[in-house]
Amino acid sequence: MQENSVVPYRVAGGRVPGVKTWLDSWPVYRQLTGSDPLGRGKAARSKATEATVSRTATADKVVKSVCPYCAVGCAQNVYVKDEKIVQIEGDPNSPINRGRLCPKGSASKQLVTSPTRVTTVKYRRPFATDWEDLDLDTAMEMIADRVLESRRKGWQEEDGGKRVNRTMGIASLGGATLDNEENYLMKKLYSALGAIQIENQARI
Ligand code: SF4
Repeated sequence: MQENSVVPYRVAGGRVPGVKTWLDSWPVYRQLTGSDPLGRGKAARSKATEATVSRTATADKVVKSVCPYCAVGCAQNVYVKDEKIVQIEGDPNSPINRGRLCPKGSASKQLVTSPTRVTTVKYRRPFATDWEDLDLDTAMEMIADRVLESRRKGWQEEDGGKRVNRTMGIASLGGATLDNEENYLMKKLYSALGAIQIENQARI
C-alpha cells in the first residue's frame, strides 16, 4: 500500500458506498446529526442489531403448555415453526407466573429438543448388560403384572390380631413435578390397591 493513499470504504460484497452511506455507518456521525445525541439508542445500533429479531417472531403458531419441572406449575407459551419448537417463554396470561419462568423453566426448550432425550421405554433384563427398547403396550403390561404380584406377595389381612387388609409390598414416592390433581389420583389408586406408604417429595 502506498503512503497517504485513500483506502476506499467497502461493505460486504465489495461495493463502494457513497459518502452519505459511509458517513451514516459511523456511529458518532449518527449521534451528532440524528435524534440520539447521547448515543444511547438508534445512533449506537449496528446494522447487525437492526437486523436482529426475537426468536418468537418467526413462529407460525403458539401452543399453551405447563413447565414440566416443578409443582409451581408455571404456564408456558411454546413457539413452533414448521412443526419444530423454536422457543419457550412464560405465559403472561397465567395468574401463577404472569409471564415469568425461573432459570430452569426458561431452559425447557433444551429439555424438549435435546438430541440426547430418551423417547422410548428402556428395559434392562435381569443379568443383562445392555438396555433394550420396549414398545409402550408391552411395558405397561409388565408394570401391571409386577404391581399385582407385589400387592399379592405383600398382602396383610391382620396385624397384631387386628384386621388391616393392606399391602406392604407397594410404596409410592412422588416427585416435585406432580401437581395436586396427579397426587390426588395417585393417592386414590394406591389406597384402592391397599397400599399405605404413599408420600410426595414436594418442593413447596
Ligand atoms: S421449575 Fe421454575 S418455571 Fe418451572 S414450574 Fe417450577 S418455578 Fe415455574
